[in-house]
Amino acid sequence: MDNCIFCRIISGEIPSRTAYEDDDFKVILDASPATRGHSLILPKKHCADIFEIPDDTLSAAAKLAKKLAPRLKQNLGADGINIVQNNGEAAGQTVFHFHIHMIPRYKDPSKDDPKNLMWDHKEFSDDEYVEIVKALKD
Ligand code: AMP
Ligand code: ZN
Repeated sequence: MDNCIFCRIISGEIPSRTAYEDDDFKVILDASPATRGHSLILPKKHCADIFEIPDDTLSAAAKLAKKLAPRLKQNLGADGINIVQNNGEAAGQTVFHFHIHMIPRYKDPSKDDPKNLMWDHKEFSDDEYVEIVKALKD
């Protein structure tokens, strides 16, 4: 994938702040971090998103997040971690190579933690909930 920036980072063509690497994954620091320690888990094999990623790669990526998130939390003194994964432009995806964001969160106001990582809460009618449950089953 010559035009994929994360493939070019994985191959070493573009430099990155690499925090972890094994045969299947590279973990880099986000170039425009939301918080201190914001990191990205990149599978080495290109796939665009959740719709394309093979099950075993997804499982391994989740396992890696489970291994690294506590290190970020403990060693950076974070109070929590958001694990975020965007699929499609409408969902905020800007790099179309699957990646998992690990975003440490801080209660301490001096840590410049953004307050806008979450969403407003909406309400739907019972009929709409029935439709949504159906959508998940089909
Ligand atoms: P998403 O919006 O979920 O596709 O996330 C893409 C992330 O990649 C953003 O948080 C960017 O800041 C980050 N990013 C883009 N280019 C680079 C790069 N060259 N090195 C590190 N992170 C990058
Ligand atoms: Zn790629």
